[in-house]
Amino acid sequence: MKNIENVHPALLGSLTTPGTSEKFINFSPGPTSLPTAVEEEIAAGFQKSGLTSLALSHRSPEFLSILDHAITSMRRIMAIPDDYEILFAHGGGHGQFAAVPLNLCHDKSDIATYVVNGTWTKRAAGEAEKYCTINEIDGRDPETGMYTSFPELTEENIDPESKYIYMCSNETVNGIELFRLPVLPESRKHIPLVVDASSDFTTKPVNWHGNNVGVLFACASKNIGHPGLTVAIVRKDLLGEDKASPLCPGVFNYTINAEAENLWNTAATFNIEVVGFLMDWLEREGGVVENERRSIAKSKILYDVIDNSNGFYGTPVDNHALRSRMNIPFNIDGGNEKLTNEFLIESWNKGMVGLRTLTPFGVGEYLRASLYNGVTEDDAVYLADFMKEFVHKNKAK
Ligand SMILES: *Cc1c(COP(=O)(O)O)cnc(C)c1O
Repeated sequence: MKNIENVHPALLGSLTTPGTSEKFINFSPGPTSLPTAVEEEIAAGFQKSGLTSLALSHRSPEFLSILDHAITSMRRIMAIPDDYEILFAHGGGHGQFAAVPLNLCHDKSDIATYVVNGTWTKRAAGEAEKYCTINEIDGRDPETGMYTSFPELTEENIDPESKYIYMCSNETVNGIELFRLPVLPESRKHIPLVVDASSDFTTKPVNWHGNNVGVLFACASKNIGHPGLTVAIVRKDLLGEDKASPLCPGVFNYTINAEAENLWNTAATFNIEVVGFLMDWLEREGGVVENERRSIAKSKILYDVIDNSNGFYGTPVDNHALRSRMNIPFNIDGGNEKLTNEFLIESWNKGMVGLRTLTPFGVGEYLRASLYNGVTEDDAVYLADFMKEFVHKNKAK
């Protein structure tokens, strides 16, 4: 975008609203706002005198109890069985794109199957290609070339020699979600599933053993905390001294970090404490079952407006069984640029931000409402009401 001085801040993705609106709702795809109660707890911590986790040594007993609390409560809330390690890594989701093949493939000739059905799985496969041999299951719609579905997993497309099968349970950009993990064909059930749950972790239960989950990871900055921390939950039989590639850096090595109980190097102390706060919040609110109910409710509020708008709003994923509850892409009047800009400016004036992120890949025609843990059902209603009003005002134009 040239001539930035003349562009309205809402069109530049500004998160600072005029301050005259009664509300502030952050629909950003991440990093984004956490639940208000968690943000208040963080703020109160800064006001306390003495040490906060920003100043605590990661070797101090104070931090050890913060770390233990984050792990124990996550294990309880997400029902993570004892044969899984909970690791806190640096490097975000992108770090895990490399860490997964580096830990699960010893040599470049080792095969890994990648289900590529959106931006993030494509990126993950591209990174893994440096360290292993990829068997790709292409999830594009053969007619449109777009990522709008999740491909069927069969004996034919899963190489039986695969060290793992990689998938993403919520493709954040494309708006495709698996509400439950896939069941593999009988003859492939021995292959561990690796799941990128960066944008849907904590919003639904995980059947760890039932779906043969080997690794599930999530960068913190969508649902559970801030950038700078990634959770990697790794089944213990995948650990072992000579399993990983000899080139795997220590900071990414699951075995080294499990043995050092997350303290091989300096842990992201403050970020881990925030995850603990979020877990406490989740437990107080009724855990994963209640959280899933909320996700269903929040997303339905918006999809109903889209589906009942007589085509004024459109969303790319037709299959209701795959429409993301986390990220709802929608266009306005088939991508009408003038109306889209008006929508962005008017909603921003009403305190709603993050509906369009300027990325290096351009803006595209779709806006996107992200409904992570920081967004309430009331917030979704506020956006839905605005969307209805906007149709009403503009349908005759
Ligand atoms: C955001 C996101 C990532 C990338 O995370 P970074 O922390 O930016 O590396 C990876 N996968 C999914 C599904 C995401 O939503």
